[in-house]
Amino acid sequence: MKYWKKIGHNKLQSRIEEALKENVDFENDTSLGYPASKLDDKVFYSDAPFLKDAPTLKTYVANPNHIGCHTFGSSESAFKGTQEIEREVLQVLAVDFFKMEDEQFDGYIAPGGTEANIQAIWVFRNFYHHKFDAKNSEIAILASDDTHYSIPKASNILSLDLLGIPVKYKDRTIDPIALERIIKEAVANGKKYFIVIANMGTTMFGSVDDPDVYTDLLETMNLDYKLHIDGAYGGFVYPFSNLQSKINFSNPKVSSITIDAHKMLQAPYGTGVYLSRKGLIENVLTKEAEYVEGMDLTLCGSRSGANAIAVYMILFTYGPYGWYEKISVLLMRTNWFCKQLDQMSIPYFRNEHMNIVTIYSSHIPKDIAEKFDLVPEQHNDNNKWYKVVIMDHVEIDSLLELIDALKERLKLG
Ligand SMILES: *Cc1c(COP(=O)(O)O)cnc(C)c1O
Repeated sequence: MKYWKKIGHNKLQSRIEEALKENVDFENDTSLGYPASKLDDKVFYSDAPFLKDAPTLKTYVANPNHIGCHTFGSSESAFKGTQEIEREVLQVLAVDFFKMEDEQFDGYIAPGGTEANIQAIWVFRNFYHHKFDAKNSEIAILASDDTHYSIPKASNILSLDLLGIPVKYKDRTIDPIALERIIKEAVANGKKYFIVIANMGTTMFGSVDDPDVYTDLLETMNLDYKLHIDGAYGGFVYPFSNLQSKINFSNPKVSSITIDAHKMLQAPYGTGVYLSRKGLIENVLTKEAEYVEGMDLTLCGSRSGANAIAVYMILFTYGPYGWYEKISVLLMRTNWFCKQLDQMSIPYFRNEHMNIVTIYSSHIPKDIAEKFDLVPEQHNDNNKWYKVVIMDHVEIDSLLELIDALKERLKLG
């Protein structure tokens, strides 16, 4: 780990306070030109005593705007203190989590995984427009049928065809024969450029796609492609649970990655992350964004700087060893749970590196699923799966209640 370490609370707090001091201070400075201020002080008291020890909340009240992208060119100078912290967060994620070389990345804290995925596809689409003068009809998105619905959204918004690739029912891996057939058909229909979305943890199964299945085939067929990793679900788990993982920037074929800090990292909602290699993000420059100092290379406009502070606080409060321990505990609970299911011969899918267990619905009575709030794959009569996500608050004792309920029912049946 180059940049990521554990830092004590007092030090973190003074780091954030320093950063806030470098930002424009709406309370004390004269700043006349921004349609912005600190949060309304009739409602959000800036002198509340608890704010003193709560750097993230203090930042919410100060309300810095991180509009634009701060890894490229210049940025809005009014908020340079906290923007620097955003850059530090991105550096830890790019270099320490995902094996990027120093200074070789761009990115930003997006409002969520959906935006980060749309941004990724937007960047690739415009790359193909600029480099090859490609038409939208010549570009296709390839993604497995277990892929998150933000990809169909991107396909719709960006006017690109999405080609869904079937997965095998039991192990949720991409069906290579279907993939080859679909790509051949696409080429016959005039597709020349492919945007591949590989999942590092699907939402329903936690299954992890092997990106080589896509890239090996596309290369043998001599086709042009760009590869994005959707790690919205698994990005804060998989790199620590599978230290051998090659699904990162050490693989030169990976161009960009999405990670959601508001899922496994337990940051506030509104905190996704988009990371890419240098040389790509400028494809989505909005030239008309003239009132923003520096260049706007992001899909959203204004966004809260407090979200970057929240991620900074979480990452540096734990440090790499603390985080590894936290993930290890979740995986131990998941192992325990799977063992109980095995003993009852209840079939399920689980990626050994993930904290999600997706159980055949045929073995879970509906009332039990509802009682324990298990999430179905489909909210209708065709549902075939229920998932259990082993989060921080899902302790063995609560898992045991579910196991006992299932055991009880098995006895009766
Ligand atoms: C949750 C999720 C997303 C979308 O994230 P939001 O933060 O809800 O916008 C994208 N991909 C995967 C795999 C996800 O699990």
